[in-house]
Amino acid sequence: MKKKVVAFHNVQQPTLEKLRKDFDVTYFPENASLQNESFIQAIQDAEALIGTGLKMDAELLDQAPNVKVVATVSVGYNLFDIEELTKRNIMATHTPDVLTDAVADAIFGLLVATARRMPQLDKFVKDGKWTEDTPYEATFGMDVHHKTIGIIGFGRIGQAIAQRAHHGFHMNVLYHSRTRKEDAEETYRASYCSLDDLLKKSDYVVLMTPLTKETEGLLGAREFSLMKKSAIFINGSRGQTIVEQDLIAALQNGDIAAAGLDVFEKEPVDPDNPLLQMDNVVTLPHIGSATYETEVAMSELARKNVVAALQGEKPPALINKEVWQDN
Ligand code: NAP
Repeated sequence: MKKKVVAFHNVQQPTLEKLRKDFDVTYFPENASLQNESFIQAIQDAEALIGTGLKMDAELLDQAPNVKVVATVSVGYNLFDIEELTKRNIMATHTPDVLTDAVADAIFGLLVATARRMPQLDKFVKDGKWTEDTPYEATFGMDVHHKTIGIIGFGRIGQAIAQRAHHGFHMNVLYHSRTRKEDAEETYRASYCSLDDLLKKSDYVVLMTPLTKETEGLLGAREFSLMKKSAIFINGSRGQTIVEQDLIAALQNGDIAAAGLDVFEKEPVDPDNPLLQMDNVVTLPHIGSATYETEVAMSELARKNVVAALQGEKPPALINKEVWQDN
């Protein structure tokens, strides 16, 4: 008899087809939640859960007593209660590396779009407002090349952004991270800074940490006030790594010049969020890794994590490695 797997949001079609060859798959393209009776029913005897956007905590795991592996189709695993999963000897897996370049492209693209006000100017042209009388100065933005970029969280994606900044745009790269990255310092001529120094010196501040207990609300009123008044802030991490109210105030008070945001405290963002009314804010609907090729690669890595775990092998992207060592 085939082992049971529950798949939900964001597992791509080619992966679902492969999963169905090996397992008895129940798929919830929507409504994968503890409010859905048939979802609760399905996870009762599932050995693997694969998909994104679902909190994996004690409440859910109590309903899924046979689960051996959970596989998120994302690199960020802030929805996993790792302590709880580890206590229950459940392997937690994610999808690092395969999305690094796509996310770095998107976040660097957001930086350029914000600096050069591309979405605003696109709207200006499409609204038929570009006339011979348009003052050229009204279209001005800020230079990106040769400016200083400060990257907070200098892991896979942070460094891929540094690569684009240094090699592509001749930018001066500063970084702040939990640990020094001496190889990357050499490769991208990056300088390690305290958080405060980075905030004070950067023309562009890019936040690229994971969301953890330590990074929740990492940037608030004090941090925004340390930034240059001309600074542009880019958030590619998670909405909760900043205090969103404080960002709104900083933009309203002119403490910083502009922001480019791929992530929000609440997603999808509320239509009455003041950020959406600001002309100096560029928004994206959390699309860092959202290209067809990358999403398929992420789904495939998530599937490989599930297959390995259910075959008694070590998953290629295991988070809580101690579970494996305990086996
Ligand atoms: P990663 O390789 O683990 O890099 C994270 C970096 O943040 C590491 O260098 C880490 O330091 C550093 N860090 C962790 N806690 C910190 C703290 N308290 N203060 C300063 N630095 C800290 O992960 P990644 O693959 O680059 O992904 C990073 C995050 O990006 C994900 O967790 C996710 O939240 C976000 N993301 C967003 C999108 C999107 O669509 N917008 C897409 C993918 C990922 P150490 O090196 O010392 O561990």
